[in-house]
Amino acid sequence: MKNTLSKTISGIIEISRGMFTILKHLFRKPITLEYPEQRPDLSQRFKGRLALRVKEDGSDRCSGCGSCVKVCPCGDLIQITKEKDENGKFIVKDFVVDMGRCIFCGNCTEVCPSKGLVMTNEFELADYSRESLIYDKKRLLLSAEESKKYDESN
Ligand code: SF4
Ligand code: SF4
Repeated sequence: MKNTLSKTISGIIEISRGMFTILKHLFRKPITLEYPEQRPDLSQRFKGRLALRVKEDGSDRCSGCGSCVKVCPCGDLIQITKEKDENGKFIVKDFVVDMGRCIFCGNCTEVCPSKGLVMTNEFELADYSRESLIYDKKRLLLSAEESKKYDESN
């Protein structure tokens, strides 16, 4: 009898605790979002898809130094093709990143001496084939206006 009574009392206490927790959260602002209609506020340092910044005049920031290639822990994920322009200066002809293999560590952006390579806040990268996750220079390039947004974060 004593055992049954103590079990009943502890049951009531547990239920009350549960109800109290529910009540506590009932009037709080929800932390979930109705995605994709509602978009999350991402931090400026969010590590999303890689992109190449340009200077104000629209010319490449990337000099093709290759530092990003060397620090990438995923091997040959970044590939840079260079060629000489009419003045004999090396220019970056193509810059290819296989985003399907990228682990978003950010090493490549941290070592970039020209602040030309950045991680954007673009996170919706799902696609139907591995090939379409390979971004060439044309796809990676930001406009001069978009490039400005990353002035302070990098
Ligand atoms: S973010 Fe990391 S894994 Fe991705 S390309 Fe840069 S260095 Fe390589
Ligand atoms: S580290 Fe920067 S400047 Fe050097 S190749 Fe990579 S993106 Fe270009």
